[in-house]
This record gives sequence, structure tokens and C-alpha cells, in this order.
Amino acid sequence: MKFNYLIVGAGLAGLTFANLLAQNENNTILIIEKRQHIGGNAYDSYNANHILIHNYGPHIFHTNNQQVWKYLSQFTEWQDYQHRVLSFVDGQFIPMPITLETINQLYNTNLSQFEMADFIESQKEKVELIKSSEDVALSNAGRDIYEKFFMNYTTKQWGVSPSELDPSVISRIPFRFNRDTRYFTDRYQGIPKAGYTKMCEQMIDRPNIKVMLNTDYKEVTDAIDYDKMIYTGPVDYFYDNQFGKLKYRSVRFEMEDHDCESFQDAAVVNYPNDYDFTRITEYKKITGQQHLKTTVMKEFPCDGEEPFYPFPTKEWQECYLKYKAKADVEENVVFAGRLAEYRYYNMDVVVARAMEMVESISSLSI
Ligand code: FAD
Ligand code: UDP
Repeated sequence: MKFNYLIVGAGLAGLTFANLLAQNENNTILIIEKRQHIGGNAYDSYNANHILIHNYGPHIFHTNNQQVWKYLSQFTEWQDYQHRVLSFVDGQFIPMPITLETINQLYNTNLSQFEMADFIESQKEKVELIKSSEDVALSNAGRDIYEKFFMNYTTKQWGVSPSELDPSVISRIPFRFNRDTRYFTDRYQGIPKAGYTKMCEQMIDRPNIKVMLNTDYKEVTDAIDYDKMIYTGPVDYFYDNQFGKLKYRSVRFEMEDHDCESFQDAAVVNYPNDYDFTRITEYKKITGQQHLKTTVMKEFPCDGEEPFYPFPTKEWQECYLKYKAKADVEENVVFAGRLAEYRYYNMDVVVARAMEMVESISSLSI
């Protein structure tokens, strides 16, 4: 059978392409996915206790992009959700990111917003040129906060010191001089009411989309006739690691079922300075599910087989650019998503980029 589009990977990048391209009924689309399910890393499922879990780590949808929000809202209703995180520091559970509440609880003070600004000013280190994630934290908040909240967490998460990581990594975490303890302040935030997997199923519920699971595309592409490929797998794999295997950070997830309704006081608790895991997520607190038992997940970052995070250092960016130079001149392949573009993208950005790219490869207007 012939297809107009062969899409490698059924994550949010691949599914957005599939959905939008399928709006033209003349297009035929085949998605090939090597895992046994669609949804990529946003996949969720019910465990043996019938608690909805995110199989690849906690996924919170948040965006300021109204177009993306409206687009995904065609496939799901949303459970309103504002993410809050606690960090276990100096024997206390303290709100993360750094806000006035964090400072007052950490130092047992009662500072006002203005006093906090003065305090942070006195703590900040002067960094002439911000070159690393360590520079970001030191110049925003000073050494004590850096060492208590960021240094060890980041070293655990990435296996290297924050001084070796691109500034963009710790810049993901805001520093605020007010009492807003939410992790994100985006205009649109929520969790798909029936879960991410159901939302993803809706995205590809069209007669002109076929899905092949449990299949590495390299096993079958010779036998499939297609016009254009949308590739959302790792870019180095596409080129048989020609310039070397790119580094990705992986995570080992450990699930625990507990015979109680509530395990911890927030959906996510970070452990920067204790244990080998970075954080514990209690899923019911994200999904809002009511249940007499609860399930939590611990994340142990590692250099495993599963490529979750592109590695944010200069060395690996430079290696990626060699692949990008080749990818940019491919006529029949479009590279999209976290693995194919080797970027630490959030879900909304992956969807937004796929929407833009579809416009550029077809005359379809979204
Ligand atoms: P993926 O979801 O990785 O999908 C790529 C798909 O391609 C995979 O299903 C893979 O199996 C398949 N594939 C790869 N190689 C092949 C092959 N050879 N043949 C066939 N198929 C192949 N984002 C947020 O916005 N909010 C969050 O809270 C959040 N939390 C996260 C937590 C963790 C632990 C992680 C790892 C990521 C998190 N993200 C979060 C990011 C989010 O997961 C990504 O932005 C999004 O899933 C990327 O979609 P994608 O389609 O680019 O990639
Ligand atoms: N980070 C940290 N301490 C924390 C939380 C995050 O040092 O308590 C750093 C860490 O380097 C992490 C980055 O900030 O990789 C981004 O955090 P985020 O919560 O966005 O990580 P993700 O959910 O993408 O794993």
C-alpha cells in the first residue's frame, strides 16, 4: 500500500502532524511506533489498583499559546490544575520555585516583598557573563540557595555539575519576589480529563490514519511506499550514529503503591540533597482521582537506554549541529520533536512547532 506520509513516532509531535495532515481526506498516513502504545512520553495508563499514572514521569500541561490550547481542546476536556512542588531542604518541606514563601520558611523570617529583594541583593553573586546553569542560580539567588536547592538536584538529574550545563536548564525554574508558589504561571494549565492517552487516541481517530505499533521503522521502511517522512525519533539513530551517538539523559522510574489515601502534601516533592532519586510524584494529586489507595513514583536519573532528555552542554550541541546540517537538506524527511531536534522542549512547544511545520509542508491552513 502507498502512503502520502510515513510518520515515525507516535508522541505528541508525530500525532499532531498526523492529525493535521489527515484533515485533507486525500492524504493517507501511516504512523510507525516502536513502543506498544501511542502518546510517547506523555502516555498514561491505569495500574493494577486502577489509579491513573503517567508511565514516563509527571506530565503537566501548561502554555501561554492560545492556539495550541484551543487545538488540543478539540480532543479533550481539561481538569483545572495548578502545579505546586515542595522541596525537602534542611529537614523542612519548602515551596519550590524560590519565592517569598521559600525564603521566609527557609530562614524562619517574615520578610516583605521589598525586604526579600534587599536580602536577595545581598546574597547574589556578581557574574559578568552567564555561561552555565550554576551562573544563573548564583546570580539570581546567591550561594546558599544555590547549594541547598539546585546544586545537588541538578548534579543528580544530569550526572554533571550545573557549572557544565547550559544556562537554559536552571532558567526553566523561575525566581519570584512574591507569594505565588505555583510552579508555572502560564495562562492555560491543566490535565486532560480522561488522560493523555485518551486525548492522543482522539487526535488520530480518522479513517486515513493507520498505526503500526511495536515496530522500529528501520525494520519496515524498505517495504513501504511513501512520499514524505516525518521523523520524530532520535536524530543520531536516523543517521546510524554517523557522527557518534548523541548523549541523552535517561530516568529509571520506581512505582510504589501505598495503602493510604494520601502519601505526601504536594503532587511532587523534590529531594535535592537526600536519596538517589530526584523527586516523588503522587499521581492522584495531579489527576484529582479519588481512591482509598495511592501510587507514587520515584525518579532515578541515569544513563539508560531510553533517551528522555537531550544533553544540554556545548559539546553535545555541537555534535547535534553536524546531524542538523544533514537533516536540514533532506528533501523528503521532516525532523520534529524533542528527540529529532535534540531540544529540551515541553509538550506545548512540540505541538506548536508541529503546527507551524505542517503549514510549511502543505497548503493546509490550521
Ligand atoms: P516523544 O514523546 O519522545 O515521542 C517520540 C516517539 O518516537 C516515542 O514514542 C518513541 O518510542 C518513538 N520512536 C523513537 N524511535 C523510534 C523508531 N526507531 N521507530 C519507531 N518509533 C520510534 N513536558 C511538559 O510540557 N510538561 C511536563 O510536565 C513534562 N514533564 C516531563 C517529564 C519527564 C520525565 C520527561 C522525560 C519529559 C517531560 N515533558 C514534559 C516533555 C514531554 O514529554 C515532551 O515535550 C513530549 O513528550 C515530546 O513529544 P515528542 O513527540 O517530541 O517525543
Ligand atoms: N532543578 C533543581 N532543583 C529543583 C528542581 C529543578 O536544581 O528542585 C533544576 C534541574 O537541573 C532540572 C531543571 O532545574 O533539570 C529543570 O527543572 P524541571 O522541574 O523543569 O525539570 P523536568 O520536569 O523537565 O525534569
